[in-house]
Amino acid sequence: LSALSQSNARLTEEISERQRGEEALRAAEQKYHSIVENAVEGIYQSTPDGRFLSVNPALAKMYGYDSSEDLVHSIGNIGKQIYVDLHYRDRFVQHLEQFGTVQGFECQVYHRDGSIFWISEHARAVRNDDGSLLYYEGTIQDISARKQAEEAIQQAKEMAESANQSKSEFLANMSHELRTPLNGILGYAQILKWDPVLTEEQRSGLDVIHQSGEHLLMLINDILDLSKIEAQKIELNTTTFNLPEFLKTIEAIIRVKAEEVDLSFFCSYPDSLPVEVQGDEQRLRQVLLNLLGNAVKFTDAGQVTLTITQDEDFPKTHTLGFHVQDTGIGIASEHLEDIFLPFQQVADSRRQVEGTGLGLAITNKLVSLMGGTLHVESTPGKGSTFSFSISLLPSTGFSTDHPTDRRKIIGLKNKPKRILVIDDKWENRSVLSNLLQRQGFTMVEATNGKEGLEIAQVLRPDVIFMDLVMPIMDGFEATKALRKISDFKKTPIIALSASAFGHTRQQSLEAGCDEF
Ligand code: ADP
Repeated sequence: LSALSQSNARLTEEISERQRGEEALRAAEQKYHSIVENAVEGIYQSTPDGRFLSVNPALAKMYGYDSSEDLVHSIGNIGKQIYVDLHYRDRFVQHLEQFGTVQGFECQVYHRDGSIFWISEHARAVRNDDGSLLYYEGTIQDISARKQAEEAIQQAKEMAESANQSKSEFLANMSHELRTPLNGILGYAQILKWDPVLTEEQRSGLDVIHQSGEHLLMLINDILDLSKIEAQKIELNTTTFNLPEFLKTIEAIIRVKAEEVDLSFFCSYPDSLPVEVQGDEQRLRQVLLNLLGNAVKFTDAGQVTLTITQDEDFPKTHTLGFHVQDTGIGIASEHLEDIFLPFQQVADSRRQVEGTGLGLAITNKLVSLMGGTLHVESTPGKGSTFSFSISLLPSTGFSTDHPTDRRKIIGLKNKPKRILVIDDKWENRSVLSNLLQRQGFTMVEATNGKEGLEIAQVLRPDVIFMDLVMPIMDGFEATKALRKISDFKKTPIIALSASAFGHTRQQSLEAGCDEF
């Protein structure tokens, strides 16, 4: 009896153990069923030849079907019915075969209603113990919203790039168009000022025309510079130049400006300033003239000083500090950052007439291009100091700098030379002819390259001024044609252009011009 009751108890124990196991299994199954059924992502198993074995409701919903069964029964071939591009499915399967898994596979698929949307798919191949392929299983996410956002960003980026491109082109064209009439205005203001019988009123009127024209030219150049800097199209043009000569020219210009308004101007340089250095002379001049010009403009009494200092480790580092100090109106601390923004002028309006508010924006960017940082310290009512340090390497070769002769030309010593001006714009021809006729040159004009070639061969000019952009035959072509004729192999040809871009200069020299 006791043996019987013992085995009975064991049996009962076994049964309840199995029940417990079955319950646990059911619970686990329910848990996973719930995860799959309620998942936000689509989940599936499919046969290697492209049929769904099972899918969760999220996937059915994604593709536009009412239930999982609906989707499984409606799709006979995933590759043909779902993927927009059949190659996608091929690539997907190839990848699975090769690596066993696929991660973040993005492609376009059809919705039941025929619309197209983007999905991202993760999948793996499930294999038997012997390695034979059983099925694929994976998850699918609808990424249409992200793709749309990406597309919108891409479109916006392309639009911004193309807008920026159009802006640069527009500015270059506009500056070209503006320079031509301005050349007429500035040129004639200059020519007329030479007239010895002008009344005082006429002379001062001409001064106004001249100064307004210069101001306009400055504005055009500044706007163009800034847009080139913003479009990152500006490049430093490093040459070898003579630093003391360079500083002398700047001193002369600023001394005149300072004396006009009764300011003292001092320069202080270290004893052993390097002579031949490498750098972008034109841009450095632009920076210093802007800072010194501002110092004079915003100072009513006292002095302006340009100090150059050597870095502690000089000459090992070749770093020079430039400091422009004034005893002027100063800048309030809340404005110290604004002054570097384009078109920002913070002084009272009386002082703004002369400027554009672009100078410091350009100067600041040029200094960083040269590897320095522009600093400002200022006390309102006491004055300001602008400083920056840049490295000017010593020259490695010969100087290409030749000192400019600033004497006034009054006439020609030898027999009159003949100059041919080839330009389609009459204003430009007229200014040059008028200017040079006064010096005693014989002037001849042509309105395009073809006419220029014909006239040149008849009249044999000593020098040719060649506009570049002209109808019928442009200046590049005309120059090349002239250089092929033995008589014109050595005739100086000087390119004329209102183009603001360095490559135009290069092109003209390549075509055979001697100067630009
Ligand atoms: P602009 O001189 O053409 O007005 P800038 O960009 O060169 O433009 O200068 C911007 C502004 O910064 C000036 O209008 C002026 O208010 C202020 N500023 C520049 N330099 C000085 C200075 N040395 N002293 C006082 N204010 C200055």
